[in-house]
Amino acid sequence: MIANNGRLKIAIQKSGRLTDDSISLLRACGLEFEFQKQSLYSPCRNFGLDVLALRDDDIPEYVQDGVADLGIVGENIVREKRAQVATFTKLGYGHCRLTLSVPRRSKIRTVAQLNRKRIATTYPAILQQFLRSQKLKAEIIELSGSVELAPTLDVADAICDIVSTGTTLRMNGLVPLHVVLASEAMLIANRETMKHPEKKRLVERLLIRISGSLQARGKRYMMMNAPSSAISRIASILPSLKSPTVVPLAEAGMVAVHSVIAEDVLWDVMEKLKEAGASDIIVIPIETIIR
Ligand code: ATP
Ligand code: MG
Repeated sequence: MIANNGRLKIAIQKSGRLTDDSISLLRACGLEFEFQKQSLYSPCRNFGLDVLALRDDDIPEYVQDGVADLGIVGENIVREKRAQVATFTKLGYGHCRLTLSVPRRSKIRTVAQLNRKRIATTYPAILQQFLRSQKLKAEIIELSGSVELAPTLDVADAICDIVSTGTTLRMNGLVPLHVVLASEAMLIANRETMKHPEKKRLVERLLIRISGSLQARGKRYMMMNAPSSAISRIASILPSLKSPTVVPLAEAGMVAVHSVIAEDVLWDVMEKLKEAGASDIIVIPIETIIR
């Protein structure tokens, strides 16, 4: 039995696709803990929080029932389990799509043509809800895995399964028809947790840190020297958070310019800055941005 001692408990996937990114996110929030997948429970040394390692399928229900206060899990699982939980923020990893697909040779080419057909899935609840929203009747064949084999085995006419790259679909002669749900990892919470003043404070502190590290993701800090006459040209090139910081240098007529820059435009911007007269351009990582 885990003591209810005012510490927060956050459930993350024990071992799987979300595990490494979830641990990295918590560590990027400054939380220090050992994580061994053999141990259910890892206390955090410098924050009132304990990390629980669980099967991802169990996380929504454990959060709903208060076994954990918080959880990190795919939106696909949260929706499928229909757990009564509060949802906080999407976390920008674990992207995948729950997709309806059909055999390449199938006559089915539209969602409407799925009416009265058989659809195999491990996501019966989400599929049921989708079919209802489309006013379609179809037989849901609930499987526990290897859904992509169902059409070949003539168990189903279509499948509704998680796709990330589409390689598995192609290998099994299937083509996507419709995306039912675009999912990513998200932070969920027990609905009672925020009524507990100490826990609420901890959750709020953690949320600020999480949003800080999400904000910093994909961004770099850039510094350069330039003649003051080039400032307006340089400022027009920099897509800065607000406006760039300009600091005078000891050498007369020279300034240092500091700015935050998105990773994906970094190289283009650097070339333009050089042409505009910037020199000694330095780019460093950002750990967090608290607004
Ligand atoms: P567990 O043992 O915890 O039940 P699992 O095998 O059910 O693990 P994983 O395959 O590790 O689960 O996937 C965890 C989550 O990662 C999925 O629920 C989904 O949100 C996300 N995900 C991202 N890409 C994919 C993918 N290509 N296939 C399946 N899930 C993916
Ligand atoms: Mg699972």
